[in-house]
Amino acid sequence: MSKLRLFNSLSRVVQDFEPFDPTGRKVGMYCCGPTVYDFGHIGNFRTFAFSDLTRRYLEFRGYEVTHVMNVTDVEDKIIRRVRETGKTLQEYTGNYKSAFLEDLRTLNCSSPHHLPHATDYIPAIIDLIQKLESRGIAYRAPDGSVYFSIQNYRGCGCRYGQLVNLNFDEMRVGERISSDEYAKESLADFALWKARIPEDGAVFWDSPWGQGRPGWHIECSAMSMSILGPSFDLHLGGEDLAFPHHEDEIAQSEGAGLQPPGRPFVKYWLHGAHLLVEGKKMAKSLGNFYTVRDLLDQGFQGREIRYLLLSAHYRETFNFTLEGLEAARQALSRIDECLEKLRELATQSSSEENAAPSLAASPSFVDAFTAAMDNDLNVAAGWAVVFDWVRETNRAIASLELSPMAAKARLHSWDQINSVLGLSAKLSDQAPPEVLALVEARTVAKRSRDFTRADAIRAELNHLGWLIEDTAKGPKVKRR
Ligand code: AMP
Ligand code: ZN
Repeated sequence: MSKLRLFNSLSRVVQDFEPFDPTGRKVGMYCCGPTVYDFGHIGNFRTFAFSDLTRRYLEFRGYEVTHVMNVTDVEDKIIRRVRETGKTLQEYTGNYKSAFLEDLRTLNCSSPHHLPHATDYIPAIIDLIQKLESRGIAYRAPDGSVYFSIQNYRGCGCRYGQLVNLNFDEMRVGERISSDEYAKESLADFALWKARIPEDGAVFWDSPWGQGRPGWHIECSAMSMSILGPSFDLHLGGEDLAFPHHEDEIAQSEGAGLQPPGRPFVKYWLHGAHLLVEGKKMAKSLGNFYTVRDLLDQGFQGREIRYLLLSAHYRETFNFTLEGLEAARQALSRIDECLEKLRELATQSSSEENAAPSLAASPSFVDAFTAAMDNDLNVAAGWAVVFDWVRETNRAIASLELSPMAAKARLHSWDQINSVLGLSAKLSDQAPPEVLALVEARTVAKRSRDFTRADAIRAELNHLGWLIEDTAKGPKVKRR
């Protein structure tokens, strides 16, 4: 059997995957999660679907994965929005966090085992900054903020610039950057703790350095190490995060010196390429900006979006189009039809059933899929294996070669493969009785002018995945 091999951004080559766990079974995996300042767009969800695929494939390969995804609920963009809307931090981020979890479910992404929120980890963040301070790597600036000293970090024998090549000649020692996001060209000491300023409003915490809030980068170092330990196997994120976010995460985590001798903060770094939309970077001004919700409103299903987001290899820039989504629907219906025929065949009784009760999977299908995915999670090759199998299965059914037992075996193989691909069953457009009952209850509530109840029912329907539309002919429900 082949070995799982992954492209490691740290070594810049494809390497055999060997977790730290001495038994070789347990894997710690961290993926940078959403910044909950708005609804996630489909680009974000390409990265989250990629992390779900990675986790599912590791599980398929028999690993016991601890999957951590943080929720960034305090950083520059959020504070700006909190100020603009006049809401509290929790009110503002709470809505987008719920929406994010709902979208993850829509795309059938397994819920991470841990979803730490930055605001719940302030003590761990302070602790980590203090460790850096005690090693002379963190220092206080005149405004009371605490910065990471790249020069002192390098002076400790540590390497800044592990994920990207940096030109230190142009760096002016002691120059500081306070914003969470910056480009390679503005390489400078970065903020670990930002002293409170009037614009922060009520968003601040007490710390040994006075009132303030954490920088974005330190949040991920503190959360990942608190849950997975100071040295863990896999760290994922979109390619835009490699610098400065991930570079800074390495610097903060290794600068604190918590790892056992010779061990890095993270063994394998995986970066997903960006999603383009209609050939361009997604932007509201270009009219090519989609959230998962926008696509559901256009009548697409979560499984179709998932399929499209997972159709290309994660290191390839991928172009999302609405035609692509239509094609995804066609592709899925080919799989659905084949499975339907297999299920029908499998339920037919057969005398062979008693004679051969074992339910062997089709080894060639599962093996070919495994070989494709072992090669740096090459899901595009994985789909090619799936469609070859669909073609061959259709042929075998049409030529009456498949017995009910063989059909069952093929379905069993599909279940194994689908534990990785995560395609949920096709949703019927027909609302089930409990949904229709809620629609009726809402109509009654509206008639008696109980609009609070009517709104609560609408919210519940939305939660169940149904949108309600009031038309001249009465309320209509459609899938969200
Ligand atoms: P954010 O909520 O902005 O912190 O981003 C969450 C995740 O989405 C990060 O891992 C980003 O790298 C990733 N991301 C942002 N834009 C895109 C895009 N267009 N394509 C793929 N991933 C993206
Ligand atoms: Zn992060």
